[in-house]
Amino acid sequence: MAVSKRLRYEILRRDNHACRYCGATAPDVKLNVDHVIPQALGGTDKPDNLVTACADCNSGKTSSLPGADPVMDVDQNHFRQAVLVRQAVQTVADVVRTTWLETWRFVHRSQPTPDLRCEFDARLTEAVWEGRTTSQLVIAARSAAFAQNANVDYFAYHVACDAAEEKVGG
Ligand SMILES: [Zn+2]
Repeated sequence: MAVSKRLRYEILRRDNHACRYCGATAPDVKLNVDHVIPQALGGTDKPDNLVTACADCNSGKTSSLPGADPVMDVDQNHFRQAVLVRQAVQTVADVVRTTWLETWRFVHRSQPTPDLRCEFDARLTEAVWEGRTTSQLVIAARSAAFAQNANVDYFAYHVACDAAEEKVGG
């Protein structure tokens, strides 16, 4: 279920219009109201599972620790757990990103364009959140970087293939 406009506004106000993970404020960053425990993992739309987060923290790209002042209305255990999950996502993403970049440079003797890197990062974050293992993602990243007409879609394709094989095999 979507979070209502009214509730979103109340959460923003409760959190003083600042990202609860890194402390960034508008207009420096775009603020969203984010689920602490993702909905896919059973998180609710209740205020104790909602926090104000900037776009980077929302997508799990940053691994900042929460500020010194705790938000009393947020479940602190959930919040700490969410920070750990974000740090783990960040670690996996770094390994896979490095593999992709190094393989790309080796195969194509050039740097991927900034656009392609951004796109890869977005797909990568999605794939990690979906629960792919580091070794699956490293293999997919390597295959994608090796492709003749190198394109990030190959990465998504290889990740999807691995998932399908797993279902058949398992
Ligand atoms: Zn942030």
